[in-house]
Amino acid sequence: MEMQEFITKAEQVLMHTYSRYQIVLDKGEGVYLYDINGKKYLDFAAGIAVFALGYGNREYNEALKSQIDKLLHTSNYYYNVPTIEAADKLIKASGMDRVFFTNSGTEAIEGAVKLARKYYYNKKHHAGSEIISMNRSFHGRSMGALSITGQPKYREAFEPLIGGAVFADFNDINSIKEKITDKTCAVIVEPIQGEGGLYPANKEFLTELRTLCDERDILLIFDEIQCGMGRTGTMFAYQGYGVKPDIITCAKALGCGVPVGAFAATEKVASAFEPGDHGTTYGGNPFAAAAVSKVFDLFEALELLTNVNEISGYLEEKLDELVSKYDFIIERRGKGLMQGLEFSVPVKEYILKAMDKGLIIIAAGTNIIRFVPPLIITKAHVDEMINLLESIF
Ligand SMILES: *Cc1c(COP(=O)(O)O)cnc(C)c1O
Repeated sequence: MEMQEFITKAEQVLMHTYSRYQIVLDKGEGVYLYDINGKKYLDFAAGIAVFALGYGNREYNEALKSQIDKLLHTSNYYYNVPTIEAADKLIKASGMDRVFFTNSGTEAIEGAVKLARKYYYNKKHHAGSEIISMNRSFHGRSMGALSITGQPKYREAFEPLIGGAVFADFNDINSIKEKITDKTCAVIVEPIQGEGGLYPANKEFLTELRTLCDERDILLIFDEIQCGMGRTGTMFAYQGYGVKPDIITCAKALGCGVPVGAFAATEKVASAFEPGDHGTTYGGNPFAAAAVSKVFDLFEALELLTNVNEISGYLEEKLDELVSKYDFIIERRGKGLMQGLEFSVPVKEYILKAMDKGLIIIAAGTNIIRFVPPLIITKAHVDEMINLLESIF
């Protein structure tokens, strides 16, 4: 079939939840993707901050293949070695004490919210807690995660959502103080807001928020589904701020392509859960866990954090040059290899033109181009990306 026939077919059989770009992707290699006609694309989206290792890493692929032949799945009623190893590695990397694996980011959020509510319930001996989340935040599409997503456009059609969701302003400690009540069980923050427009938290804000939560025995949850896993130059973004959460959520690059997420917590908080409180059939099965485990090994072997720290300064510099050169670009925002350019005009047109030229980038909202490349990129890839962008400006 021709590309156009596949696209026509897709529009007949798939639900119309995305305005998809008109390409059919076929395979990937390193930081490049190829469509079914063999056209090559430099990928600065990485499947939305997923493919940290780049495409086709041999060792990763081999680990998955051998786990498939051994044991794909078993219920969480039994132990298995890959899951234990993956949990151990995630705990060491995140500084948390216990982990629960899920199949996606949104499920990690669901679990984190349930854990926070259970912690509150044990403490107060009654339910009815509230959770404070940030305006402009994005936490996922399931009903619970949607309830605490601070963008009304995503929530409106699906109300009523779960109760007890309260919104405050990001980077504004007073706005949070005003919303705290005796019922507040947790505050949830993305250390760098992704979907909402690449806004990094101020260090002062997170530090004050930590103190505030400690004073009031409120849990601090960091949603690191997008900004975690090395993207900002530390394994988790919170480590770059020196402000530790009580619960952390993770997904996207955790499996580098295999659908897996997790929420992890300190012992004090995690112990609120008892057998029966939460569960999942697939979550953290041996296959997904083998992926997670190998991802952590490869982060070390490939020295990805070192690479992120070396490259991100260069990427920032090059993007800043675009800001000063073109008057329709307002500013650059972000941290590490999680960067955005805010335009004074909608960016859709530019994204389509870039794709024509063989560059894949994505938007965050209407006016922002988001850059979340594989963490293995080199300066040469940054130059190539900038040249392609300039050729369309
Ligand atoms: C992508 C994302 C989610 C949702 O993850 P899914 O795997 O798409 O369910 C939640 N929070 C943040 C910060 C994200 O970037």
